[in-house]
Amino acid sequence: MGITRRQLFGWMAAAGAGALAPGVAKAAAGKHFSGYPESFGVLHDITHCIGCRKCEAACNEVNDLPDPDTPFDDLKVLQDKRPLSATAYTVVNRYQFESASEPVYVKTQCNHCLEPACASACFVKALRKDETGAVVYDASLCVGCRYCMIACPFQVPAYEYDKAFTPRVMKCTLCYSRIREGKLPGCVAACPKEALTFGRRDDLIKEAQRRINRNPGQYVDHIYGRFEMGGTSWLYLSPRSFSSLGMREDLGVKAAPEYTSGALAVVPMAVTAGVVLLTGIYAIARRREQIAEDERQAAVAQTRARAEEEMKQKLTEQKKAADKEREAIVNREVEKALKEAEQERAADKPAADDDSGKET
Ligand code: SF4
Ligand code: SF4
Ligand code: SF4
Repeated sequence: MGITRRQLFGWMAAAGAGALAPGVAKAAAGKHFSGYPESFGVLHDITHCIGCRKCEAACNEVNDLPDPDTPFDDLKVLQDKRPLSATAYTVVNRYQFESASEPVYVKTQCNHCLEPACASACFVKALRKDETGAVVYDASLCVGCRYCMIACPFQVPAYEYDKAFTPRVMKCTLCYSRIREGKLPGCVAACPKEALTFGRRDDLIKEAQRRINRNPGQYVDHIYGRFEMGGTSWLYLSPRSFSSLGMREDLGVKAAPEYTSGALAVVPMAVTAGVVLLTGIYAIARRREQIAEDERQAAVAQTRARAEEEMKQKLTEQKKAADKEREAIVNREVEKALKEAEQERAADKPAADDDSGKET
């Protein structure tokens, strides 16, 4: 299949925007970038994976994603191939082969490319390669143009279509905030079979090669992600050809920005730049409107909540005052009645004394 026209369009658009604003799309310069030297990655050894979905559950937990309709411990979902989505940054799929009794399980998520096509397609820099190795997303910069979704050769970024206001692009973050705190990515920490190994990308490549050399019959002689699309931070070892496990082996080793330098030579820059500029302005305007509407609704909700709170407080105070008043009236009445009773008793007393005098 190779690089699709849609993907090439996405990258070219980004390169055009990069030309408009030098430095915005660094990777669009067509120069090969070998990655941050000390960056991290994850090695997924497919031969160890048992399809337990513990990584999926951990991912949703650490990223505050909602629970799926079917619980994580229900493995019936493995009967169908599932794509990534705005509420599933990672999924495990099962592959059954006639020649084998045991199925093969493959975990997928963003591969965190060394030169990400999504980041180079993003002309407002909402996506960028971080020195941890993660491709990180800043929703506050995103204009919702979705070029990243077109550009990604692995079809990773998902979009919150169901959110009317401020929808976001959603994908695996490599748990970069956890990495910065010295913790493991959520999925790696949860995997009970060591099918996921976290470490420096260079060390992971050495470890993967060691495993292949030690057990050449167990693995195909290929570390997926070492060179694909210029290299990715997520690496894979497999017992079968990667294409038989739904992974693209037709991508080549050039990173996305390297494609655009040649293509742009034959495309009038003004046309590309104009399209990007207009799309960008429209997208920014739409995003601003959405944010303004969002803020307006939040302000209305806040004011209503405050008014309700004030009303509740006033009613409580009024009730307290009424109770106090009622208590005071009762006390007054009781006091009055006691006084009257006392006066009556005092008035009756001499008569009683007189009566007792007559008898003696
Ligand atoms: S896999 Fe796709 S979304 Fe992830 S970094 Fe690469 S291009 Fe971007
Ligand atoms: S690295 Fe983090 S965000 Fe990515 S799949 Fe694993 S748990 Fe999810
Ligand atoms: S937790 Fe580990 S063994 Fe279980 S499905 Fe995920 S990668 Fe495979």
